[in-house]
Amino acid sequence: MRTYQIAAIPADGIGPEVIEAGAEVLAALGQRAGDVDFKLTFFDWGSERYKKHGEMMPSDGLEQLKAFDAIYFGAVGAPDVPDHITLWGLRLPICQGFDQYANVRPTKIIPGVTSPLRGVGVGDLDWVIVRENSEGEYSGNGGRAHRGLPEEVGTEVAIFTRVGVTRIMRYAFQLAQSRPRKLLTVVTKSNAQRHGMVMWDEIAAEVAIEFPDVTWDKMLVDAMTVRMVKNPKSLDTIVATNLHADILSDLAGALAGSLGVAPTANIDPERRFPSMFEPIHGSAFDITGKGIANPVATFWTASQMLDHLGEATSSQRLMTAVERVCDAGIVTPDVGGKATTREVTEAVIRAIHGSNE
Ligand code: NAD
Ligand code: MN
Repeated sequence: MRTYQIAAIPADGIGPEVIEAGAEVLAALGQRAGDVDFKLTFFDWGSERYKKHGEMMPSDGLEQLKAFDAIYFGAVGAPDVPDHITLWGLRLPICQGFDQYANVRPTKIIPGVTSPLRGVGVGDLDWVIVRENSEGEYSGNGGRAHRGLPEEVGTEVAIFTRVGVTRIMRYAFQLAQSRPRKLLTVVTKSNAQRHGMVMWDEIAAEVAIEFPDVTWDKMLVDAMTVRMVKNPKSLDTIVATNLHADILSDLAGALAGSLGVAPTANIDPERRFPSMFEPIHGSAFDITGKGIANPVATFWTASQMLDHLGEATSSQRLMTAVERVCDAGIVTPDVGGKATTREVTEAVIRAIHGSNE
């Protein structure tokens, strides 16, 4: 029996609804496989804890997570707590503390889910966005001077290091190389931002020499949004900075039908620390408690987690089950269906048990 210790942090809003669904699905995958067990340990960290104790997680939170094989994360964000507190109090300390520098966001059109792009169906849009996850625009540098005065100045300083850019570029080229089309698009804004962004372009060209079989090109981020909408088939693997990829991947999620299906993996490629798997969406308080949160993103990220753990069979079994259920029209309202979170989850579990692969 292979046993994996997984830290589950459902956190806020619909986070607990989708992580509970994901926990049931992982249990079903363990039963179906017979020789593998996913042991989930739940942590009640998040905005409720912040409102009671003034902190999103305990001060030794990272220490507590260190020994786990992976982290399964819901979402943070509450209507009555400022967003920068929830984000910097829980999700970012984990990503940065565990040096999960590669944020990997696959996007494809799942059968049964309709893209808002006319004429774009299954197979026409199949991307992986690699987001630099440790520095750049979200390194937390900057400040405010003359607070509240007319001459107030606020700075938000993006930090790009040669080590940081080289390692994410290498990760992206490797990923592109492992995919059938071997195609990479490097996104920057090196016309207007002439320091760190020009360094990105230069490092991309240097790393490209190590991957002669990968075809790559460069795009400015604004033009990239147009290309994603107008010519989705021309893209495959994409690498961009922390901020640019954050924005592009929300767009990608919407183009693939809904944010509710888009997954993300925060990976430490060197495996010094646990990696973290989560849906891209936030806590969605507009639908919290209604039982209609789409659990597909949270299932898909579980499949990324299984791949990371080396459980490829269970990963594939889960994605096949999800695709079958969506194709059968058992989907939540955000993608045009009538099913509840529970109905989708039960259907996926049935498909896992019924599968013969
Ligand atoms: P959101 O992703 O929570 O919601 C955007 C829209 O998409 C909403 O209309 C919501 O109902 C819908 N949606 C999102 N996930 C869905 C799902 N699984 N099923 C069905 N519909 C879904 O983004 P927002 O409204 O901008 O932010 C809400 C809160 O979440 C804020 O506090 C924000 O800071 C936080 N947030 C957290 C994360 C994270 O934890 N990684 C990411 C984004 C936003
Ligand atoms: Mn985002």
